[in-house]
Amino acid sequence: MLQEITYLRVSVTDKCNLKCFYCRPDNSEFVPHEEILRYEEIARLVKAMTKYGLKKVRITGGEPLVRPQLEELVRMLREIPEIKDISLTTNGITLAKHAEELRKAGLDRLNISIDSLKPDLFYQITKGKLEDVLEGIKVSKELGYDPIKVNAVIVKGLNEDEALDFVEFGAEYGVEVRFIEMMPIGGELINWSEEKVKPLDEIKQKIEEKYGKLIPSISIGSGAARVYKVPKLNTKIGFITPMSNPFCDGCSKLRLTAEGHIKLCLRTDEEIDAKPVIRNGTDEELDRFIKKVLIEKEISNQKIIKSGYAFSDCRRIMTSIGG
Ligand code: SAM
Repeated sequence: MLQEITYLRVSVTDKCNLKCFYCRPDNSEFVPHEEILRYEEIARLVKAMTKYGLKKVRITGGEPLVRPQLEELVRMLREIPEIKDISLTTNGITLAKHAEELRKAGLDRLNISIDSLKPDLFYQITKGKLEDVLEGIKVSKELGYDPIKVNAVIVKGLNEDEALDFVEFGAEYGVEVRFIEMMPIGGELINWSEEKVKPLDEIKQKIEEKYGKLIPSISIGSGAARVYKVPKLNTKIGFITPMSNPFCDGCSKLRLTAEGHIKLCLRTDEEIDAKPVIRNGTDEELDRFIKKVLIEKEISNQKIIKSGYAFSDCRRIMTSIGG
């Protein structure tokens, strides 16, 4: 029997208005416009995949909000009854401007990336302004997005000392913070090294020293995160530990790149070009293609588990994958 695929991450662009050093190298090239999937094409694939269990779609990038009329895609996805959860991962820089039209179009949830709460360090990491992102969060809270999650990639020696500040920030802003370990995606292009990875168990310990034992919890769409309630503070936090404690078994997630490649797993560059069949195939051909993808996904999962969850040949940079 084919394994269900419940979750698809859809990258709508490989362009970004920030330049985070671990995500997008300076010399990155962009996919030409005509190679990028159109919204109708993305919606066609999503609809066809619902036959195999797809329920959740996360829109990502690059920075998804740099693609014009993103609300049109949200509207198209909202019209697919089997899709129960539509979320967006954004750096939040222009969120204040777009949050309302996206909400009206049917967007359910937001994940917002913030790696530092210190404006100077935030600028050093991203080349953007923290206050723009905070404004985006405020506007989104008022519009009723719930929960709002904040993703913080923790890098040793850079922002690890901000863990407690992030927990307090979560409580103050009413958002759920997710701490993430830095992955070697893009290999030497992003200058990754083992020494930069902060094992999140150490962060968890530090938080427990201050607030008491964390209480295991759950959260809507929590996927790869291990989620906890923080005693004494009315907030939840989560840990995403691809390096120190992988969570690959039973993975039912696929990724669609902006140019229409299906990426089977973050840990390898194995991918299958879906664009020809989405663009020119019949419904039957698309269905056969999806079945083939599900079989390849299962084989890929087994390989990854056998390899001890290794990251191998990850040359594609994160900004062209979508996180
Ligand atoms: N621009 C959007 C944003 O900033 O959220 C969406 C795309 S971004 C690639 C998605 C997520 O991937 C962000 O939270 C980012 O911090 C994370 N990310 C990028 N490179 C990473 C890496 N090497 N290791 C871990 N997370 C990474």
